[in-house]
Amino acid sequence: MDKKQSLMNTYGRFDLTLTHGEGTMVYDDSGKAYLDFVAGVAVNCLGHAHPAMAEVLAEQSKKLIHVSNLYWTEEQLQLADKLLSLSDHENVFFSNSGTEAVETALKIARKHGRTLGGEGKTTLLFAENSFHGRSLGALTVTGQPKYQEPFGPLLGGCRSFVFNDLASLEKAMGPDVCGVILEPVQGEGGIIEADPTFLHKARELCDEHKALLLFDEVQAGVGRTGTFFAYKQTPVIPDVVSLAKGLGGGFPIGATLASGAAAKALVPGDHGCTFGGSPLACAVSSAVLDTLLDGGVLAEVDDKGAYLKAGLEKLAQTHDAVIDVRGRGLMLGVVLAIEPKALVLAAMEKGLLLVGAGKDVVRLVPPLTVSYEELDRALQILEVCLASLENE
Ligand SMILES: *Cc1c(COP(=O)(O)O)cnc(C)c1O
Repeated sequence: MDKKQSLMNTYGRFDLTLTHGEGTMVYDDSGKAYLDFVAGVAVNCLGHAHPAMAEVLAEQSKKLIHVSNLYWTEEQLQLADKLLSLSDHENVFFSNSGTEAVETALKIARKHGRTLGGEGKTTLLFAENSFHGRSLGALTVTGQPKYQEPFGPLLGGCRSFVFNDLASLEKAMGPDVCGVILEPVQGEGGIIEADPTFLHKARELCDEHKALLLFDEVQAGVGRTGTFFAYKQTPVIPDVVSLAKGLGGGFPIGATLASGAAAKALVPGDHGCTFGGSPLACAVSSAVLDTLLDGGVLAEVDDKGAYLKAGLEKLAQTHDAVIDVRGRGLMLGVVLAIEPKALVLAAMEKGLLLVGAGKDVVRLVPPLTVSYEELDRALQILEVCLASLENE
């Protein structure tokens, strides 16, 4: 059977079959090695086959994998404590994915809004060019027509504003708004950082209108930008934060943290998730967080990111194909004058995996454990690829 017929045709996959990995490296079925600067799309924060993950997966699976949320487990409480000790929030809801972590945030905002103002306070505001997930709720607040158009009609009561545009946000805001969702760094949209003044104003407007400020840190969180939570590098504290991607180091888990009124919005019966917060997922995530924090991985993200960014900026000076370099920590984007796909394919050929973002950006989101030597090798491959593409 042709393997390409057996799966639903939802992804534009590369002609590449991966078999195993170690650290930043992955290997295909012919044994060819690649530097993995995609890392499962900003997921594999500890790289591949990390011993701490292998051990906790084996040990916890012998103890307890899943019990449902009818009961308590130490593993879930322990992970909650770790996350809350790193944040400014009071409680957490566990799920399995970024979409679910966002959906939970949206439901918190709706519930809180209805409690304050009934039907008249249910509007959700979202940014253009955002990405929040693929369920109909998360898709409605994903401000990209290419993802939305095939699936309308979408959720009612949602309005968009222009990202980083104060006047646009002010105009969209009103007493009917229950929540405003934002990525502190837009990931899929092209690695675009939220402007601090804009975030400050968003916080002010939310307070003024008793709306919740919801941050989607599914991609930017878990150390990707140099601090565990990306919001810590902004002037604001959101009422709700959604995490997923890096949280399990590749094992599926999502989390939604809340504070103040947002933390009290949901009551028994309001929300649930069968697999959410299983002892296995929570034990793995706890081990990932311990390695990131106590193992010193997170402490190096800033320096590694600055090193990679400086290398990319040098490429921008010497290659017309590179227009700009954006982002911070190990969440970087190279804005290109050439087709991003051409660079992704050329780099793959030379043993470097990259992923696009937005219409003209190539994203670099390597494991947070990446070495300086690997950063150098990636920069060398990029240099060779840019030179050959410019000569075409
Ligand atoms: C990837 C992503 C999502 C969706 O996460 P899934 O795990 O694919 O459901 C949501 N928001 C942001 C910012 C993301 O990068």
